[in-house]
Amino acid sequence: MIPAAFDYHRPSDMAGVLAVLKEHGDDARVLAGGHSLIPMMKLRMADVPHLIDLQDVDGLAGISISDGRVRIGAMTTQAEIIDDAALAAAAPIMREASLQIADPQVRYMGTVGGNVANGDPGNDMPGLMQCLDATFVLVGPDGEREVKARDFYEAAYMTAREDDEVLVAASFDAPSGGYAYEKQKRKIGDYATAAAAVLLTKDGGTCTSASIAMTNLSDTPIWSEAAGSALVGTSVDDAAINAAVDAMLGDIDPTQDNRGPIEFKRHAAAVILRRAIARAWDRA
Ligand SMILES: Cc1cc2nc3c(=O)[nH]c(=O)nc-3n(C[C@H](O)[C@H](O)[C@H](O)COP(=O)(O)OP(=O)(O)OC[C@H]3O[C@@H](n4cnc5c(N)ncnc54)[C@H](O)[C@@H]3O)c2cc1C
Repeated sequence: MIPAAFDYHRPSDMAGVLAVLKEHGDDARVLAGGHSLIPMMKLRMADVPHLIDLQDVDGLAGISISDGRVRIGAMTTQAEIIDDAALAAAAPIMREASLQIADPQVRYMGTVGGNVANGDPGNDMPGLMQCLDATFVLVGPDGEREVKARDFYEAAYMTAREDDEVLVAASFDAPSGGYAYEKQKRKIGDYATAAAAVLLTKDGGTCTSASIAMTNLSDTPIWSEAAGSALVGTSVDDAAINAAVDAMLGDIDPTQDNRGPIEFKRHAAAVILRRAIARAWDRA
């Protein structure tokens, strides 16, 4: 499979990226790891006359942690997330989730920016970022702006990012308490049939906060505020877990596809969320 012809641009700074985006508008797209965009171009599902490679642009890669705030540059790969000991200590859910994305070859190339900016409902990091209450930093012709991950996703492949903007980083407060990322998939390397990201805090035997996000169960990631609220103030007993699962099931809207019929997906979502809550609670 060979993509349609395109012009390849490789600017060395963000001004150069924005200039090409301005000149070519809808006909230009940035290229990060290329592990979603290039297959789409080969399948002729994306026609991109101008590709702008981000790899020479300074300042887009790397992880920093300062005063409890984590900042991950857009060009940071999933493999780098897995290998970063400081990040694993500050936000272990990032490593746990990244290890469940695709396979090592994809993770060496796939970037955090590409994963969250693409708007693919199957990608794991959008839901993870919503669970963490992350903020995305976008740069465009009018400068920089921030958008909450929970406000970023509008529909499949539709986000709050404008065509002439580049996502440069994601940041979030290092979470405390227990965490779990659980994913049901058909085989190693596959996208989720259902996945759940859970963060919990505990004081004595009582849950004091809970954040729950689900992946590939709607055309956007679903941060289920109601599911988290159902756990807060409880001892995360069976009744509370049942209430959280019911609330989550009220928020998702899966469709039938080659990963199964709707009822199966709802069943998988419930099983995955129960497991994630149990593990996060154990760790809290
Ligand atoms: C076989 C296979 C299995 C996979 N399985 C999984 C999985 O289980 N879970 C999962 O989460 N992912 C999975 N992926 C996707 C992969 O993890 C990458 O995250 C994904 O390809 C996007 O990252 P990228 O850097 O490759 O982006 P690219 O392919 O380069 O770009 C994707 C899109 O995002 C845009 N974009 C990229 N970077 C930016 C930016 N900084 N600002 C604005 N727009 C940007 C591009 O213009 C393009 O439209 C899989 C991929 C493959 C090939």
